[in-house]
Amino acid sequence: MINKPLSSFFLENSNYIYADYNATSPISDGVRKSILEVLSKQILNPSSLHRKGQETRKILQDARDAVCGIIDVSSDKEIVFTSGATEANNLVMRGVTGFQYVVSAIEHPSILNSAHNPHIIPVNQEGIIDLLELEKILSKLKGNKVIVSVMMANNETGVVQPIREIAEIAHKFGAICHTDAAQSVGKIKVNMENLGVDSLTLSAHKFGGIAGSGVLVFNKNLTIEPIIVGGGQEKGLRGGTENVVAIAGLSAALQSVPDLLSKMNEIKKLRDQLESKLLNLVSSIKIFGKNSKRLPNTSFVYMPGVKSDVQLMHFDLNNIAVSNGSACSSGKIEPSYVLLAMGATKEQANCSVRISIGPQNKPQDIKKIVDCWYDIYKKNTLNMYK
Ligand code: PMP
Repeated sequence: MINKPLSSFFLENSNYIYADYNATSPISDGVRKSILEVLSKQILNPSSLHRKGQETRKILQDARDAVCGIIDVSSDKEIVFTSGATEANNLVMRGVTGFQYVVSAIEHPSILNSAHNPHIIPVNQEGIIDLLELEKILSKLKGNKVIVSVMMANNETGVVQPIREIAEIAHKFGAICHTDAAQSVGKIKVNMENLGVDSLTLSAHKFGGIAGSGVLVFNKNLTIEPIIVGGGQEKGLRGGTENVVAIAGLSAALQSVPDLLSKMNEIKKLRDQLESKLLNLVSSIKIFGKNSKRLPNTSFVYMPGVKSDVQLMHFDLNNIAVSNGSACSSGKIEPSYVLLAMGATKEQANCSVRISIGPQNKPQDIKKIVDCWYDIYKKNTLNMYK
């Protein structure tokens, strides 16, 4: 069972449609293989100075090289392994001291809740941050140490921000710029050098790795204090013996990024078909961020008059996994703050479902999702007017 590849999971569960890739991606076959290989050996402490410890340490070095190669990190950057993007975001936000925080209204909670008294940059109706407002906030904060944090792509809508421009504005005002690229790696090209940011986070389980493994990359001239202190691992920035198995998985997941990116055109075609079919069926729906640059796999769709939890339940009964926004908060039934920040009404924010597809989805999945969606719509609204 443990050796079964991912492809067999989907074959055996051919009735099950997974369309919740932004919550987590299925573990890829390459990652599974690499993890099993590491597990089949004795994993020792990578900080041990003996030969066997140093052999284990090589897994960490290979993963650092993979980060550098895949997201174009220059030698003036430090790479710290963490337990995920949440911890990496906390590390940079809490690790800088004496800074003023400027963050967008639609950041992930790991940024919003780790920024102390943040100045909030609003977004427009298409989910793009207001650059003039950013400039205004930064000019008011002149003379202070400032960190600007804007995510590269939003986990709910998929809207992609103009990070390079944002970093240029931040630097013009002497601020530093962080971006949370957790949703971007494996879906769009991430090139840290081109983005011009001072720090960046990523998370392995969003592109085929396993949850519990992430990275903070940051400029060596930035002083960051650890939030977890211990035995001095990760250059003293993250105490605790490294999770070698998960990091080996991260390394393998990074190797598969070019292959994932090569599939994104096909995935975008499927996503666009899905959206045009839904719009043809019910013209009063809304697809958030539709006119913006978006991740190719993501669609956040408002179904008039039908609460997202009702939709989710119906989808689930029909073997389709979708989400009502971020997985982190889907336990609570609250309207999406991301949609509210984009000017959506409470009803729209309460009645929207995120469909995020991936390489395992087939054209017939799109038909099934559309049929199921329309069935939910008819059952819950049309008979109200009979
Ligand atoms: N940032 C974004 C944009 C995310 O989508 C997520 C995962 N939902 C995180 C951070 C947190 O990542 P992790 O699960 O690795 O802590």
